[in-house]
Amino acid sequence: MEVLYLGSLKLKFDLNKYNSFKNYVEFKEKIDYTFEVNNVALEKIPEKPTLDHDYVFYDFIFEYQSEKYYEFMKIMEGLGLKEQVVFRLDIKYTKKEMEQAPLLAMATHYNFYATNIKFPSEFGTKYEKIYTCPKCRTVGYKQISNLYWNTTQMKKKLFLEIPANFYNGSHAIIITERLANIFKEQGLTGYSLEPVIHVGKKDKEIKCFQMIINHTMPPLSEKMPYIIDEDDCLVCNKKGRLKFFPPYYDKASLDYFQDFNLSYEVNAGKHCQQSLVLVSQRVKQLFDTLKIKPVYKPIVVVDEK
Ligand SMILES: [Zn+2]
Repeated sequence: MEVLYLGSLKLKFDLNKYNSFKNYVEFKEKIDYTFEVNNVALEKIPEKPTLDHDYVFYDFIFEYQSEKYYEFMKIMEGLGLKEQVVFRLDIKYTKKEMEQAPLLAMATHYNFYATNIKFPSEFGTKYEKIYTCPKCRTVGYKQISNLYWNTTQMKKKLFLEIPANFYNGSHAIIITERLANIFKEQGLTGYSLEPVIHVGKKDKEIKCFQMIINHTMPPLSEKMPYIIDEDDCLVCNKKGRLKFFPPYYDKASLDYFQDFNLSYEVNAGKHCQQSLVLVSQRVKQLFDTLKIKPVYKPIVVVDEK
């Protein structure tokens, strides 16, 4: 696993910080030079700012936690710029990691909003709010009725993951009858099916089920790396929303799992509670064949001897 740090530094003209615009431009040139002498992999040196365009971005890449990364962060700190750096991590997995991890965290809900699909609450599915964090406002919902939904939205789809949402309810997975039959033929484990009640034109109904994942994994390993994040909340124990790294599990936690599993942690949603979905290699192979294309993150096994 290769972890890349993709950083971006924003430098904006501000009279409280720089005495004049000229002063700001000089500082910008000093930063250009800093990047250059330290040999930082920079997308490009930003152009000279103007009064109409009084900010610049430096986009750069490091191998995360490499010697160069630490050196450079120290320089940024010295210049008082560390707070102005935003970043994300880009993790590249090897073929071996992808193929040999006993479980993979799987997510398809990223493109839910892009595909313009409507939430079950809009069709009459009932939810109860079972948790509200007094500090960060994160909410948790429980579904208390069957899933009511217009199943026509399932055309051209076999599998749909509806993300937990602050306003609309909890995480749900819908699969078509065809996929349910394939799961059964393959003998996949760790789930049960509930009916989806079709709301809409009868002749447009697509037979679907709500897939309930029944098996919850033990907590993540204490050894999982952790980056302090703006979304952290100590009240509901929401730490970094599992956002940066793949899940780490102690070897002993992997004595027993099923084809479909949920994480014990419920921090995968933004301002709402949602567990991670963890699947076996069998599920991935099946989905590859069926051209269901989630984002996978192979879990890291922590083997403490
Ligand atoms: Zn909270």
